[in-house]
Amino acid sequence: MTANNTVKTAASSHTQGHDPRRGVGTAAMNRAILDHLHFTMARLPALASRNDWYMALSHAVRDRMLDDWLASLHHFRNKELKVVSYLSAEFLLGPHLGNNLINTGMWDAARDAVESLGLRLEDLLRQEEEPGLGNGGLGRLAACYLDSLATLRIPSIGYGIRYEFGIFDQLIRDGWQVETADKWLKFGNPWEICRSEIAYEVKMGGHTEYHHDADGRLAIVWLPVKVIKGVAYDTPIAGYRSRITGLLRLWKSEAVESFNFQAFNAGEYYHAVDEKVVSESITKVLYPNDEPGVGKLLRLAQQYFFVSCSLQDMIRVHLLRSPRLEEFDQTFAVQMNDTHPSLAVAELMRLLVDEHGLGWDAAWKVTRSTLAYTNHTLLPEALEKWPLQLFANLLPRHLEIVYEINRRFLDEVSRAYPGDQARLARMSLIEETGGKFVRMANLASVGSHAINGVAHLHTELLKETVLADFYQMTPEKFCNVTNGVTPRRWVLLSNPGLAWLISESIGEEWVTAPEKLRELECFASDPSFLSAWRGVKDANKRALAAAILERTGVAVDPESLFDIQVKRIHEYKRQHLNLLHILTLYHRIKRDPGAQIPPRTFIFGGKAAPGYFMAKLIIKLINSVAEVVNADPEVAGRLKVVFFPDFNVTNGQLIYPAADLSEQISTSGKEASGTGNMKFSLNGALTIGTLDGANVEIREEVGEENFFLFGLNATEVQALKKSGYHPGRFYEEDWELREAIDAVRSGLFSHGDAGLFQPLVDHLLYDDEYLALADYRSYLECQERVSTAFRQRELWSVKSVLNVARMGKFSSDRSIREYCEKIWKVPIRPPFPH
Ligand SMILES: *Cc1c(COP(=O)(O)O)cnc(C)c1O
Repeated sequence: MTANNTVKTAASSHTQGHDPRRGVGTAAMNRAILDHLHFTMARLPALASRNDWYMALSHAVRDRMLDDWLASLHHFRNKELKVVSYLSAEFLLGPHLGNNLINTGMWDAARDAVESLGLRLEDLLRQEEEPGLGNGGLGRLAACYLDSLATLRIPSIGYGIRYEFGIFDQLIRDGWQVETADKWLKFGNPWEICRSEIAYEVKMGGHTEYHHDADGRLAIVWLPVKVIKGVAYDTPIAGYRSRITGLLRLWKSEAVESFNFQAFNAGEYYHAVDEKVVSESITKVLYPNDEPGVGKLLRLAQQYFFVSCSLQDMIRVHLLRSPRLEEFDQTFAVQMNDTHPSLAVAELMRLLVDEHGLGWDAAWKVTRSTLAYTNHTLLPEALEKWPLQLFANLLPRHLEIVYEINRRFLDEVSRAYPGDQARLARMSLIEETGGKFVRMANLASVGSHAINGVAHLHTELLKETVLADFYQMTPEKFCNVTNGVTPRRWVLLSNPGLAWLISESIGEEWVTAPEKLRELECFASDPSFLSAWRGVKDANKRALAAAILERTGVAVDPESLFDIQVKRIHEYKRQHLNLLHILTLYHRIKRDPGAQIPPRTFIFGGKAAPGYFMAKLIIKLINSVAEVVNADPEVAGRLKVVFFPDFNVTNGQLIYPAADLSEQISTSGKEASGTGNMKFSLNGALTIGTLDGANVEIREEVGEENFFLFGLNATEVQALKKSGYHPGRFYEEDWELREAIDAVRSGLFSHGDAGLFQPLVDHLLYDDEYLALADYRSYLECQERVSTAFRQRELWSVKSVLNVARMGKFSSDRSIREYCEKIWKVPIRPPFPH
């Protein structure tokens, strides 16, 4: 920091007083908002829309982040500091305004200034369209990590794609998911700054030629058929009271020359325009994951595009510090968030060897010591591989480089394991059985000095399964970094009542030192504290109930147990297992109206990939069950089922704090970590879950008596599959399970149409890949323990407090510190003195 303090001090000398660009008092903020309304939005106050006011306020807040930002950007030139570069195809950021107000400490001044203008801050906060530049957990993780990097004052750049359309908006019509385009930029984005002059050319297609230059050295020239320009759009990321503002740099694709005015006939003119359209389409839309085989070429082009722009940018920054590219690894530590950026291995080699003249060995050394790879999945169908022909057509030079990396790597493998042909075939970067493919996880593993899983169990399974061969050959590369979530957005911003109560009791340090939450343990025996704790939860539940009524028309009882499962809809996450429990309770109450079952509200939320039929059918079934159950007078006041549409970060901020029970019920061994599990527990929900992903570690931390565990563990899952799993037997042998499935099969929830859910029923009875039927009885018994516990409200609250008190480990600050130590070799700096 030292060298740059001068910059900051010069600029910050204005922060006192009423400087309309910098002053953080209410009067200065008021002045700033009116100024921006006038000079930026060109509006008179009397005619301003809510969006105009939102924009004016956001610009005023952004102004106040710029001194720290410019000072932070200056760090990139400081030779002493290594910069962390987080490469991710997704950043699921959530709205900026509220988070920036919290992290910069300007909330109160902004609220007062807005009120002095006759407006309400919460109305303006609601005006922001969230940037949904991610599908789910993986993209949200990247966003939490940006928050922690800035908070921990680590020089960093998040690199990604500026999708014009983010993840689709979800509507529910007649119980089905309907996707609509996410036009998040339609009213403008006050948080981004277009850097037209930071732009790089990216080649695609064509072929390569080999020449000898004047000195007789071999030079390889890639003659592409297309060149696209990537332009940087920068967004400041405020650290929590750290006086550091991190950088998110997203790339937008453009045509190199927007129009070819030389074209002398109309045909050529329109051809030139077509080229422009094609170039701009690269960053047009985020692909939903779990999408079977569509739009493949464009997706590969997106990945290459953002990786190439990012690496060219890093090389530019490095050359400002040093002419020696052999030292690139001292300037940057590059983390690849899953295999989406794994083309970085081949692209960095290409840039170093072809464009900057390094020898292969020197380039390989620096590539490997710069890059690191985070694996996010064990599901074989989710491991990325590209058809070789498609790869060759788009990236002919990269294919040559991949072949050369592979040739040298397989030599090493055969030296280490002479004669082991099967191993060579498994470890090759090229899959050759049943069509040829480039295996991106293998490429990432070979090209990285570190490979990490995202929870302890996940890392162990990685070593035993998908990356077992790599682990055996280079065990020293493997490590675990369990995921985390930022307590700033996920408690301070989304659950201010809880944050206030905690800070009242133990002080405010927990926000950046969450191990301090342990001090809450002694309040777990204080009845007045417990009653205040319940008061916070009840208020959050009432707020969610109001939103549910507004968005679905269903009235739910805030006194009932809020049992919530929100996450992407996927068979491995087993929303259908949750449904089987609901159906069983429904039948039990119908059969025995006196049954001792405390009232429950089941809340679901989550998007299904548009091409994932079974997931969409599960959404339809949830809504169909809701329709029948909610209308049945025999269960009125006892069971409600709700599908909350369009689960995203904004809605998550409302939902996580309102849960009594968090559903984390994936088949053991399938969920890499989960982060929803952490958000719920950090907000005082108790978890019902399997021994999967980070659930294992959450249970270790909070104590087994404060966690509802059920189901097969990962070893038992593997054993059952190996011995031959027959879901039909569970159906035959458990009459309650049979009753639940038969009800779906009968057409009870589909107005007599027995065919509607047949594919789902058949899937369960004859395949059930994710063992829902095997875990059904154990899940039901566990849910009975939940019901019993919920009747003892005092004890439940104690468990809730203990959950929060013991969740400190799952702050993303801890995760980032571990990356710094184990992988990036970046020093951790002491917290900023407040
Ligand atoms: C946290 C989060 C997720 C991830 O949830 P999991 O339960 O870990 O799958 C997905 N989407 C959004 C909007 C989130 O905030």
